[in-house]
Amino acid sequence: MTINRRTLLGAFVAAPAATLILDPVLAETAAPTRGLPPVLHQFSLGNARVTVLLDGHLPLGTQLFANYDAEKANAVLESGLHRMTPEGLNIPVNGYLVERGGEKILIDAGTADLMGPNLGAMRSGLAAMGVSPAEISTILLTHMHPDHSGGLVSADGTAVFPNAELVVSQVEWDFWHDDAIMASVPENSRGFFQMARTTVAPYQNRLRLISGETAVVAGVTSLPLPGHTPGHTGYMLDSGDQQLLFWGDIIHSTALQFAYPDWTIAFDTDPAVTAATRHKMLDRAVSDDLLLTGSHIDFPGLGRVLRQKEGYAYQPAPWQFGL
Ligand SMILES: [Zn+2]
Repeated sequence: MTINRRTLLGAFVAAPAATLILDPVLAETAAPTRGLPPVLHQFSLGNARVTVLLDGHLPLGTQLFANYDAEKANAVLESGLHRMTPEGLNIPVNGYLVERGGEKILIDAGTADLMGPNLGAMRSGLAAMGVSPAEISTILLTHMHPDHSGGLVSADGTAVFPNAELVVSQVEWDFWHDDAIMASVPENSRGFFQMARTTVAPYQNRLRLISGETAVVAGVTSLPLPGHTPGHTGYMLDSGDQQLLFWGDIIHSTALQFAYPDWTIAFDTDPAVTAATRHKMLDRAVSDDLLLTGSHIDFPGLGRVLRQKEGYAYQPAPWQFGL
């Protein structure tokens, strides 16, 4: 069996752990993907140029949500023009290239071939920009789930980005490399540990583990946002007099979770902490009028948060012309 989104999404219910281990032999014999076209959105922020690179999409089945209420869901889906498909709600996987002063930084790396034919376009996006993997100097990971770290590694287990330093939260690294924790989770979730380890393994000799709020590169500060995973981390980019927060997986479903922040999903390691962090972050986003972007916010995933009578709402930023 190959690794694809179905085996991945089934990991919590059915798929044996072995199907989730990145296996170069299996990857080589897998059916070729149809090759997704590059999809990009670029904007400037101060003296930086940011490109949102769409890696593809994932279906989120409604059974994955805690507290799911079909009546409430249908009402917000309708008002937001979101469509439900037989597999659930399709959500994007967004990755980022930040360019400033000749430096090229990636925030998350997409999935490469790890999660099936509907994902893996981030590299064709980079290629369309004329950026080669060798030019990437730093990769900031929000966390070590395969839709964020999968694109770090080729099917043969080598590093896709031969010159990049990898920056990851120490807490995140330790969690996924802890054999005792892996042994304590249900057997069908252990594949996530194997995948996390496989994707970062080629970067062990150019790795920087970070803690708390810290300057990770010039103008970028880390922001711990625990819950979805223990070391889940956002990154605040300061450029000129402007700021942009890359908040990772604070929201998985734009359609449902701004309105209902307590609807956690099965992939959240600690649902209570996830919901608490989400509430705190949404609150701050409103108070500080933050410009933000998220890995699963509807593409291109750039906007701000508004408070509503109950819950919150997302206001997408308009397309930026004339770069
Ligand atoms: Zn994710």
